Amino acid sequence: MKLKSLEISGFKSFADDTKIDFETGVTGIVGPNGSGKSNISEAVRWVLGEQSAKNLRGQRMPDVIFAGSAERKPLNRAMVTMVLDNTDHYLNTDYSEVSVTRKLFRNGDSVYQLNGQECRLKDITDLFLDSGIGDDSFSMISQGRVEAIFNSKPEDRRFIIEEVTGVSKYKLGKQKAQREMEQTAEYLDRVNDLITELS
Ligand code: ATP
Repeated sequence: MKLKSLEISGFKSFADDTKIDFETGVTGIVGPNGSGKSNISEAVRWVLGEQSAKNLRGQRMPDVIFAGSAERKPLNRAMVTMVLDNTDHYLNTDYSEVSVTRKLFRNGDSVYQLNGQECRLKDITDLFLDSGIGDDSFSMISQGRVEAIFNSKPEDRRFIIEEVTGVSKYKLGKQKAQREMEQTAEYLDRVNDLITELS
């Protein structure tokens, strides 16, 4: 799996349609302070489903929509599309190229798409669960987070290691199975009560 390109339109400082192609090797993004470098990594986090405006340095989610400048009027929608090469089928889908799109309109309407088809946010989070590149993964480390990780409590650091090694997915599965077992036990109790009443 490899990040191929990112299309940004109306998102934060990117008023115009902007396409960034990621070639093989390491890509460095350079520019003066305030030119939008961090907005690019936030676009990646946002398209992967980030739900916290605060994590994107805003107050409310519509703050990600281009708010206007001295020369330009504000826009009414933000859109980001991320395209991944999936020829190794690292992501659990038949597609050898995966594109993920998120749109947000100023009236609050929101759209998610996988390979051009409208989908739920859950479809996106499920696809990226344990891939190491989800909205909350450790493949994207913002300024200040490195220090926070090193200074965190041992149990918090354990959570990070579980995320990175892919153990979290199984923990979630275990919790779900335990809840189902508890519910089944409750149903069984009720059935046994009914049998006792009837006999
Ligand atoms: P630094 O090198 O200082 O970290 P940077 O290159 O990472 O800066 P960003 O923090 O990505 O820059 O971009 C900040 C710029 O984005 C600011 O000029 C800010 O006004 C602009 N910006 C943020 N949100 C919006 C928005 N909704 N509409 C228009 N511009 C926005």
